[in-house]
Amino acid sequence: MDAHIETRIDILRQHLIDPEICIRCNTCEETCPIDAITHDGVNYVVNAQVCNGCMACVPPCPTGAIDNWRNVLRSEAYSVDDQFGWDALPAQNEEVNAPVEVPAQNDEAPVASDTVRGSTVAPWSAARPYVQLYTHKAPALATVVGNFRLTDAAASSDIRHIMLDFGALPFPVLEGQSIGILPPGTSTDGRAHHARQYSIASPRDGERPGYNNISLTVKRVQREDGKGVCSNYLCDLQKGDVVTVIGPFGNTFLMPNHPDSHLLMICTGTGSAPMRAMTEYRRRRRATGETGKLMLFFGARTRGELPYFGPLMSLPKDFIDTNLAFSRMPGEAKRYVQDVMRERANDVAQLLGDGNTHVYVCGLRGMEDGVMQALEFIARSHGLDWPTLWEQLRREGRLHLETY
Ligand code: NAP
Repeated sequence: MDAHIETRIDILRQHLIDPEICIRCNTCEETCPIDAITHDGVNYVVNAQVCNGCMACVPPCPTGAIDNWRNVLRSEAYSVDDQFGWDALPAQNEEVNAPVEVPAQNDEAPVASDTVRGSTVAPWSAARPYVQLYTHKAPALATVVGNFRLTDAAASSDIRHIMLDFGALPFPVLEGQSIGILPPGTSTDGRAHHARQYSIASPRDGERPGYNNISLTVKRVQREDGKGVCSNYLCDLQKGDVVTVIGPFGNTFLMPNHPDSHLLMICTGTGSAPMRAMTEYRRRRRATGETGKLMLFFGARTRGELPYFGPLMSLPKDFIDTNLAFSRMPGEAKRYVQDVMRERANDVAQLLGDGNTHVYVCGLRGMEDGVMQALEFIARSHGLDWPTLWEQLRREGRLHLETY
């Protein structure tokens, strides 16, 4: 029997995605083990004919948009096409809802945890995050206090460091969290543009220490097929402009707070944003005598395309072990982060074997396979039992993947 169906009067507890909160990051569609989730140019939706309520998609969703349910007569379940047309979730039909006892959770349906590669819990010592303090209906306003280019003038990509100040408005964040930006205007069909998600690149105590501000790392995307709306909006912002913000989001991709914890950080391009936040937090606390190690693998096309190249190079060598991988340096062989990890296998293995190590991967979706294979290779070649270690890392909130 399908666990999420009330059989007595053929009621379906239908799984739905809230289009008002969803930031269209594709995580749910990637996670669903049975391809029940799909999308068009507007909405992400769940096919009631396919969904079995396994809940695998729920923990990875950064906003909670995925965790919505309506009791409907099975014969009247909302179709995929119905959901594509929604701007908001329909209200619960109380006539259907009232007489039915539906389990609060799908207790009988096991979470297909093997479809989730990374942790769905935060490190044990992480600070407790605030999430969704500001929503589409009640967003926060932030003022632009800085916007400068991080890539060489000659580089083909325009990556920017954008600073937003919240003034007296409470906007508490932790390293690893993200925010949503609501770009002004509407798309060609007259609907408001969707929120776009960006990782916070500054530590919890502010881009400028002690100020109520944050920074983002944004790459300008070429405008085509409706893409690039938000990144171009952000990259063109001037000091004093006001931006509409929702969030913060994210309650698992967080850094450990205990002083002897190690960070193994692997990123490409703008996926460096959370790594910068964590590194900067640790840098500001160096004087406290924290003993945890930081090891970074960072990939970009060329040196000039690597955001934060200058500041990164000036960090003390005894503070962070930085390893760069360039894929398009003229006259040099293509190198990806996973290649450089293999070159540093002994040191990576030493970290992997330490129960205080927390692994963070952020950047292109395509890097995930290569990085996971490199971790497995390094573990196995150093006598570590990879399946056991992987499961332990996941269970203990020590393996965090955020790729798009
Ligand atoms: P990019 O410039 O396109 O690529 C960065 C580097 O990664 C290049 O050297 C690229 O090599 C390499 N790469 C390509 N495929 C790879 C693979 N399979 N394994 C390892 N390396 C690979 O990167 P980007 O445009 O900055 O994109 C960064 C990604 O991070 C985006 O998908 C973005 O959504 C995501 N992200 C951004 C944020 C944020 O806050 N802005 C936060 C989280 C994640 P070649 O292209 O030369 O092959």
